Amino acid sequence: MTAGEKIVVSKFRHFYATADGPVQATEAIDLAIRAGEFVTLVGPSGCGKTTLLKAIAGFLRPTEGTITCDGKPVREPGRDRGVVFQEFAILPWRTVGRNISHGLEIARVPREKRETIVARLIELTGLAGFEQRYPHELSGGMRQRVAVARTWAADPDVILMDEPFAAVDAMTRLTLQEELARLTAATKKTVFFITHSVDEAVFLGDRVLVMTRRPGKIKAVIEVPGRASGRDWESFKLDAGMQGIAEQVLRLVREERGAAAPSTSDAQRAETIRSQQAAGDSLPPEGRGMRGHPVAHVRDGDPG
Ligand code: ADP
Ligand code: MG
Repeated sequence: MTAGEKIVVSKFRHFYATADGPVQATEAIDLAIRAGEFVTLVGPSGCGKTTLLKAIAGFLRPTEGTITCDGKPVREPGRDRGVVFQEFAILPWRTVGRNISHGLEIARVPREKRETIVARLIELTGLAGFEQRYPHELSGGMRQRVAVARTWAADPDVILMDEPFAAVDAMTRLTLQEELARLTAATKKTVFFITHSVDEAVFLGDRVLVMTRRPGKIKAVIEVPGRASGRDWESFKLDAGMQGIAEQVLRLVREERGAAAPSTSDAQRAETIRSQQAAGDSLPPEGRGMRGHPVAHVRDGDPG
């Protein structure tokens, strides 16, 4: 481990045992995430992104290779690594405030300290005024804010996020992304963030990793200079440098998905859609991206 490296993944390969024999989820992956760095990962569906994240979280043991956090081998989930999944992992019978404090209660953090931590996170995640509400009284975006705050409450050094905003509507997603950029800067977390959206990956990341199709390996690493705590979508969209990086990442992602590549003609695209529909591909739910659809929405869509 080199100084400043928080998470080190070395020669990670994973196979799942299935009735039809082993399924290789990933090819060998080497990766080092520096302390305080925000690393985003994009790649086609099923290429092994979640597998890698679960291994870093300690939810699964790698078939091959090693993963360390602060130089110590990862063998199980730990309080040093918090996870935010796509589904709203919050408790419906607890209020917003008590959802955020849940982990702290389990850890027997004294009440006064809990209240201080919860109050700060309520403020940082824009939940002020909603402390006493129950999850069913909240919008999807608000619920995901609670999930984020809940993970932050335990104050892990490392936050692992698996498409955390994929299930919220497109407008809310923009706000959540800006808030997350501010929150991670304010709290100096090390973040590993999986997304289907190229723009989201470039907007949030210090570095963007692009994975190949399954068995996935790291195909490219793109540095994003100057992640600013106050970055917002408007200035991002007007920044030619940022847009150039986004184009570059998009090209790399498209190479891996095959269909809907920039050179694909409309006729070919229509044929792809027909064959996907014939294969039973259904339309995605609202705000989940445009799986199998023409390229109009591809920039913030689903490369998988
Ligand atoms: P991604 O998150 O990139 O969409 P995953 O890491 O979830 O991909 O999955 C990678 C591959 O491993 C996929 O082909 C998937 O079907 C397979 N896979 C994932 N979990 C299991 C499992 N528990 N058992 C068998 N195969 C699995
Ligand atoms: Mg996944």
